[in-house]
Amino acid sequence: MKSRSGSFVTELRCLACGRAYPDGDRHTCTHCGVDGTLDVQYNYESVAKTLTSAALSTRPLNHWRYRELLPIAPEAVTPHLHVGWTPVYDVPRLATSTGIRRLFLKDDGRNPTCSFKDRASSVGVLKAQEFGFTTIACSSTGNAASSLAGMAAAAGLRSIIFVPQRAPEPKVTQLLIFGATVVRVQGTYEQAFDLCREACEKFGWYDRNSGTNPFLVEGKKTAGLEIGEQFGTTMPEWVVVSVGDGCTIGGIGKGLQEMRKLGLIDRVPHLLGVQAEGARPILDAFVGGKDLIPSSTNTVADSIAVGTPRNWRRAIQQIRASGGAMIAVSDGEILDAMRLTARLGGVFGEPAGVAGVAGLKKAVEAKIVDPGESAVVVITGNGLKDIQSAKQAAGQAMDIPPDFTALEKRLKELSIV
Ligand SMILES: *Cc1c(COP(=O)(O)O)cnc(C)c1O
Repeated sequence: MKSRSGSFVTELRCLACGRAYPDGDRHTCTHCGVDGTLDVQYNYESVAKTLTSAALSTRPLNHWRYRELLPIAPEAVTPHLHVGWTPVYDVPRLATSTGIRRLFLKDDGRNPTCSFKDRASSVGVLKAQEFGFTTIACSSTGNAASSLAGMAAAAGLRSIIFVPQRAPEPKVTQLLIFGATVVRVQGTYEQAFDLCREACEKFGWYDRNSGTNPFLVEGKKTAGLEIGEQFGTTMPEWVVVSVGDGCTIGGIGKGLQEMRKLGLIDRVPHLLGVQAEGARPILDAFVGGKDLIPSSTNTVADSIAVGTPRNWRRAIQQIRASGGAMIAVSDGEILDAMRLTARLGGVFGEPAGVAGVAGLKKAVEAKIVDPGESAVVVITGNGLKDIQSAKQAAGQAMDIPPDFTALEKRLKELSIV
């Protein structure tokens, strides 16, 4: 059965209580009343008829190639920006320094606004258009916001972004350049979130919030579908992802499960979820086997500094289903990983973008991951997003007068010549 929109979606199902709802613009399970539990279901039998390896081999190399597994109408006009099909690099020197046999990086900082979030926002703007909205809103200071602003600009929608007072100037500038209306709320992130939600209800704006909007995780899922297709029969043992809200790892896990369901891979790799030590409520819930308790946050990795994650159930379910694990890393370990990933892998990631590399190293040391195994780390955001942290990790340039003797003397002091 096909849904109203002509997609392969059958229903929205609650991950907590199992209740099903018809496909449509719905954000919460009315029975559970909590956020982040609705999961989009597909008719996989129908999907399998057209989403075959033969069909895939003829499709454009972007994430719309998995259209049957996205909650969008076949005739939907996708934004012109290139989202997804990000490159996978084999990085032997970084593998050695991480203590693992073979390591790959999947560089999602290569997306249009330089983060993984473009996968979700690109689906978000299509859903807004499908439901007849002309304005789309979200509350965030980070990649979700800049990504929404960029995708809305590409699609010709108006975007309104709520940021808390302490939002860093460079990030606010990225929003403004795309023409977003930026509302700086004199309060905390939670207050900005609540105000945005209320404004969406009252003014009829579409809410792009991956904590509650069930369609966004479907966009994030495409990274899992790609990993399945890019590795095929040479799938690494581990897929490593940094975790804030939990939507990203939950989506990647779902994508990998779907690739197996369709017979396009024969084994789902273990998921390793990496949180920052200063913001680890999902890890604590995972280890304790209990419901999540919101925490305070204190980490250099601002993109995963989430104290009240809304997709924690989805994250934990997927990690468990994969026989995976979770680990936390310190800010020092993250900054080390930032340097090493750039110097030994040639990829410059922001702190949350490289936290996976730090977590993998620690998981090998903790004997969670065997040194004989292989892994792919998803680099979720580009390093130029957060110059302040990069400067902490990078060190200093040398200052010298325009004089060869002075240059030679300084280079000798540093044992460079
Ligand atoms: C959002 C984000 C994450 C984590 O995704 P969640 O869905 O919040 O778990 C990781 N890295 C970067 C760069 C991000 O922007």
